[in-house]
Amino acid sequence: MERIKLHDKEFKVIIPHSQIQESIKSVAKQINNDYKNCDTPLFLSVLNGAFMFSADLMKNIDFNCEISFIKLSSYSGTESTGVVNEIIGLGTELNGRDVIVIEDIVDTGGTVENLHDMLIKKGVKSVKICTLLLKPDAYKKDIPIDYAAIRIPNDFIVGYGLDYDELGRNYKDIYVLDPK
Ligand code: 5GP
Ligand code: MG
Repeated sequence: MERIKLHDKEFKVIIPHSQIQESIKSVAKQINNDYKNCDTPLFLSVLNGAFMFSADLMKNIDFNCEISFIKLSSYSGTESTGVVNEIIGLGTELNGRDVIVIEDIVDTGGTVENLHDMLIKKGVKSVKICTLLLKPDAYKKDIPIDYAAIRIPNDFIVGYGLDYDELGRNYKDIYVLDPK
């Protein structure tokens, strides 16, 4: 579909599915090369946004590995602190593991920076970040974004796992807001 309407807004395709798949193959190739001598790395997929990317990425990974799915929460008690401070759903011991975080999109970098710091506190041996999308002009943090499949301008995008107010995650292309 070339155009979609989600709630009150219209979006048009900017990255077709075929281009997404090509970019994923290329990033997977780098990961395969970097981790070929590593003992059972652990991929940590950040839900909800990264679910589709994670599935396609993993189909292109050719070494033995594990994958876990996590959610991030910014709640402390009943109050949202605005800062991500908790990992939900982690059933795996992280101490001494080589971890590759799978994210949908890195914008200002606040989310991945917090997650990165939490993983270091849990005693991981190493942590690298793999994101489907990176907005280089918005990124303000120092931690390296080791693998970025696709770089995009500072626009609001949806599709392929990403939502606008929970709609749009199911579409296989990536769309940009198209104000009319
Ligand atoms: P950051 O902490 O890097 O500023 O933002 C990361 C989070 O903001 C992402 O995980 C995502 O939930 C949301 N986000 C940032 N940019 C976009 C965008 O263009 N589209 C959508 N759907 N979500 C975005
Ligand atoms: Mg995310």
